[in-house]
Amino acid sequence: YAKSMGRNRYAVFKKAMEKAVVRKHVLEKELRKALAESRFIIRYQPQITQDGNKFIGAEALLRWSHPTEGIISPAEFIPIAEENHLIIPIGEWVLKQVCYQIKHWLEQHGYSPFITVNLSVVQIRNSDLVSYIKKLLDQTKIPPQLLELEVTETVLLHEARVSIDILNELKKLGVKLSIDDFGTGYSSLTYLKKLPLDKLKIDRSFVKDVPGDPDSETIIRTVIGMSLDMGLEVIAEGVETKEQLDYLIKEHCSLFQGFYFDPPISLEQLEEKYFANLHKSVTSNPKVVHLENYSK
Ligand code: C2E
Ligand code: MG
Ligand code: MG
Ligand code: MG
Repeated sequence: YAKSMGRNRYAVFKKAMEKAVVRKHVLEKELRKALAESRFIIRYQPQITQDGNKFIGAEALLRWSHPTEGIISPAEFIPIAEENHLIIPIGEWVLKQVCYQIKHWLEQHGYSPFITVNLSVVQIRNSDLVSYIKKLLDQTKIPPQLLELEVTETVLLHEARVSIDILNELKKLGVKLSIDDFGTGYSSLTYLKKLPLDKLKIDRSFVKDVPGDPDSETIIRTVIGMSLDMGLEVIAEGVETKEQLDYLIKEHCSLFQGFYFDPPISLEQLEEKYFANLHKSVTSNPKVVHLENYSK
């Protein structure tokens, strides 16, 4: 009986594996088509400052609008796109959309929030990345500080030599640089100090368990203290509750992103919710966009 159970389980496992492999091949083929047919969509997740009444920027998050499967998550297709290097043209498409969107907002309103774009390790390794971004900045003439590039902590750790050079070159273009999913890679402080960073994003996995979990609380307190000491901005990712927000504010974190405010939303929703009531007089800092009577 035990033996047949084992065999049975193995068969189930094997079938699941085969299914996954087939799906990967199918998706890979369809991903090429999707790129040719522009089947990608960008969602924007707002970054909110202070006590929740100011919108200053948003993270661009990619989606694949599949003809029969609906929206496919980047968690599923980005790893495939990285394997076959399709992430290079896909990533360029995202950067281009975002830069032209900022240009459009600047022309339409005279100001624009900053937009952050995720960079994959494959893009970082690609020697054309810097010149591509330089070309986009030249073409759109947007203030480079309105574009922020996110690189995950693990990429920085594993690609240390390449990353430092690339980040320095990107920094010279005037774009902002942030380190994503911070806290998951155990970087040393001395290493971080060598990098030309502007912002640090505290990973959602720590935010999830505060207040209450002593380890997460220690990590959050340490990361915030360290960022402020180093002159870095710090943002908490994945803020879902009022309790988390209050805790983070108490710990001197002043920038937030998460479902408590908004999930990633469409361009239209972003404009409707955050651009409709924009203050007429924007501060001298072009990246800060004030909201009048913003309430949840
Ligand atoms: P990420 O850069 O760390 O993005 C944050 C992810 O957390 C997003 O998932 C977002 O929807 C989700 N999130 C935000 N707030 C909350 C919250 O309060 N609770 C929970 N449970 N989740 C929250 P998403 O959009 O599925 O993206 C997943 C990952 O895919 C991103 O992680 C990023 O690494 C990657 N990705 C997305 N767009 C791009 C892109 O254009 N290029 C590259 N290379 N990677 C991308
Ligand atoms: Mg990110
Ligand atoms: Mg993240
Ligand atoms: Mg992530």
